[in-house]
Amino acid sequence: MSVFEHEAFRDHERVVFCREPEVGLRAIIAIHDTTLGPAAGGCRMWPYGSSEEALTDVLRLAQAMSYKNALAGLALGGGKSVIIADARCAKTPALLHAFARAVEELGGRYYTAEDIGIGMADVETLGEVTRYVFGHSREGGSGDPSPFTARGGFEGIRAAVRHRLGRDDLEGLGVALQGVGNVGYALAALLSSAGARLIVADTERANRERAQKEFGAKAVEASVIHSQDADVFAPCAMGAVLNDATIPEIKAPIVAGVANNQLAEERHGRALRDRGILYAPDYVVNAGGMLSGARDILQDYGVDEVNRRIDGIYDTVLEIFRRSEKEGLAPNEVADALAREKLAREKLASEKIMGARKGT
Ligand code: NAD
Repeated sequence: MSVFEHEAFRDHERVVFCREPEVGLRAIIAIHDTTLGPAAGGCRMWPYGSSEEALTDVLRLAQAMSYKNALAGLALGGGKSVIIADARCAKTPALLHAFARAVEELGGRYYTAEDIGIGMADVETLGEVTRYVFGHSREGGSGDPSPFTARGGFEGIRAAVRHRLGRDDLEGLGVALQGVGNVGYALAALLSSAGARLIVADTERANRERAQKEFGAKAVEASVIHSQDADVFAPCAMGAVLNDATIPEIKAPIVAGVANNQLAEERHGRALRDRGILYAPDYVVNAGGMLSGARDILQDYGVDEVNRRIDGIYDTVLEIFRRSEKEGLAPNEVADALAREKLAREKLASEKIMGARKGT
């Protein structure tokens, strides 16, 4: 497998393959860009079908973290890691410690955190070995990012509703949530309080039933959640759910949710636009948890500031929609362009500083 020629490789600064057979560790850490600061992004534990699949995922996720952190105004770069194993049966303290040693060896170039398959308790276990974790609960750490991610998701949905439906309230609007796990459940609570009518799907029966019981949500099969008659389709589970098969079947005029990497490929953003569906770019909408967790790394702002910045997601998403219309681009293309412009400006500024230093 070639990394440099890989279709998801976008000049990543570093890709580290970690293997410790004694504890069953096979992991990849991808650092995409550290122009703005140390790379930060969670660790996903997933039984990928092949190492090729794992590499694709980690490369794409790491790039999305660079863009997410840039547009969230954080002095952090983008990185991500994946552990190739089933979290339900292969997760042991020894495996997590081995992974944490690999993170520690990077000397602060990459900070890790929770993601799918790696929960809050696991972050504490990683923190026993490496300093380079965020979203932890030690010594006043920022703790669980999920409620903050959900609040950002709520702001993203509000912005999309404002732009597409010309409304400032969600009363009576139908929202189809794909996944009501940590973030999806917290988002469902916010939407329900705002008067939205919920339709949910979750492959875990207990999660589905919790949403039915607590929010009076209608539950449907996971395979049809994207095609519900609703105002908003909110992906809050796995990635690549916006693809050639699902896009023609989406009935909602808005897609806005917190899942990472919702577009199977970049071109699917345009496919949504061509169908008249307004897509709120995932990494802009789901930056709330990162805004919270970044406090553990940057240590220069408190929780009030986190909430203020999460409120700002509403304006950022609206601005992207306006530019998208003005420039004839899909919203994901606008978001990517904004992030790339910011990184390029920052690179140029630091090159100038380095040049000036060399000159003295
Ligand atoms: P989670 O594992 O707690 O929840 C995901 C839920 O989706 C689970 O209940 C699972 O059973 C369900 N699910 C899985 N496959 C499904 C399918 N095909 N159809 C319907 N439901 C399905 O994870 P989470 O922390 O809530 O994260 C959800 C998404 O948001 C992920 O893509 C994650 O990367 C992204 N995200 C999370 C955070 C955070 O703060 N936790 C931050 C940014 C992005």
